[in-house]
Amino acid sequence: MMEILLEVQHLTIAYPQNREVVRELNLCLKKGERLGIVGESGAGKTTLAMALAGINNQEQTRSGTVTFYGKQRGIILQNAMTCLDPLMKIKDQLKEVLCKSRKCSKKEAYKQAEDLLEEVGIFPAKQYMESYPFMCSGGMQQRINLAMALAADPDLLIADEPTSALDLSVQSQILKLLKRVCRDRELALILVSHDRKAVSALCQRVCELKAGKLTERTGAEKPGRLGNTLNESHGEGEVLILKNLQKSYGRQNVLQDINLTINTGEIYGLAGESGCGKTTLAKVITALTKADAGEVRAECVQLIFQNVYRALNPVMTAEENLREALRAKYGRRKAKSPWADQKIREALEMVEMKADRGMDRPAQFSGGQLQRLTLARALLLEPKLLICDEVFSGLDETTKEKMKALLKNIRRDQHLSILFIGHDLETLEELSDRMGVMYGGYLVEEGNAGALKNDPWHPYTKKLFRLARGEQVGADSMTPEKEGKSDRVGCPYAGRCPYTTKRCEEECPGSYRQKDLYGERTIRCFLYETENCERESSDIWMHSRV
Ligand code: SF4
Repeated sequence: MMEILLEVQHLTIAYPQNREVVRELNLCLKKGERLGIVGESGAGKTTLAMALAGINNQEQTRSGTVTFYGKQRGIILQNAMTCLDPLMKIKDQLKEVLCKSRKCSKKEAYKQAEDLLEEVGIFPAKQYMESYPFMCSGGMQQRINLAMALAADPDLLIADEPTSALDLSVQSQILKLLKRVCRDRELALILVSHDRKAVSALCQRVCELKAGKLTERTGAEKPGRLGNTLNESHGEGEVLILKNLQKSYGRQNVLQDINLTINTGEIYGLAGESGCGKTTLAKVITALTKADAGEVRAECVQLIFQNVYRALNPVMTAEENLREALRAKYGRRKAKSPWADQKIREALEMVEMKADRGMDRPAQFSGGQLQRLTLARALLLEPKLLICDEVFSGLDETTKEKMKALLKNIRRDQHLSILFIGHDLETLEELSDRMGVMYGGYLVEEGNAGALKNDPWHPYTKKLFRLARGEQVGADSMTPEKEGKSDRVGCPYAGRCPYTTKRCEEECPGSYRQKDLYGERTIRCFLYETENCERESSDIWMHSRV
């Protein structure tokens, strides 16, 4: 049986005016165990972390006991820079801790400091030894903090929000590093964070701090966007399954081997440049076009298009346009019934339009209002999946923002799944739970929307996000149309990709599944072929190789 390293009994911590943050808390941590403590901000996580680390706070009153059976506790905090002395070189800060804790000479401490920097992945260590903290990036500073904590040879490491101030890609590196260091040193870890997914990925046990009490959470968190409840998927089961879909127009392959699933209540963003096959895909899903091969399983789909001016009958009033949709589905009689009147009122309400606008004709509405009307018409038919094809194009920024909020509300209230097709990556990422990127008829990358934005893997996805940020990228001579030719061999992106090899020109990459910080990533690029990634995929997760 593993030995107990830390035992907390009946711990109560209160601030002035009897504001209790921790109440009668009991906790037990074994040697080498990794425990995650999650909770919302203000739940008292940092107060608890400090108490567990044995750091006193004069403002607090504490009762109960925290018994540590090990030799040393180390702590790393959220804001790495504030933990380092800005006026001291890294080597001097490390040497100071080493001389004190390991009782060694300055010369020995220098060598050990260098080893520690290498252990936390800082290369070349010699160069960083001579740096000041401000010369290092946030991720580097956090690595240095970890090296400082390790300098005291702790048997328990307490990490309080160690990655909150870092971007997604660096977060993943730091968490991976923490896991490796804990494993190599047989170190126990208490990871305190609001980031449930990261904690679940790293820790063997997860507890939630709520109203001063710790409750054990069973089962791992589902992968998804971190810290943004709006963007989390709300449902279960699939509303759309596409398998090995193929479609061509003459010699032009428009859809090639598309596999895609959308879950209930999920918003899936589909990106890609014009001509990559996005709209054809929408048409195939809604049966407006027939696929040449493959399987489409979809439940109650409605589609709204970009051109709202042609979507409604101009000679009918708004209400007549909506009633017409009901007539097509339920028949003339039902479309004239009080039930239909009620449904039309509700649909207009859902899209936040006044019922008295029902008598106006399309020409009397603005672009944004027309978009709401087409949305109301789609919602009338109670779809399970709504496909929005470039619906924000042509709308001004304010209207776009209102439409985004409206879609999010409708998804939440109606439990609706949305396939949102667009080329504005920022909007797609903001709205979506998961995102896919199409190129030359292929789905080249798919994964959690935030993960794709912060750590794109495919060279094309990377380029799209760089363009979206306004960065300069090289011009391409090849168009997706050329790349979709049926006689083309090799990777569809080979003509534009800076990483092209001979193999890329001769062979088309398969679709490889890998694990990233937020779940699963599917990618069509040899750089992420399973054999190439074996070492990383057997670890916790991987990140971009380009
Ligand atoms: S398979 Fe080759 S050409 Fe295609 S994206 Fe990957 S590296 Fe580039």
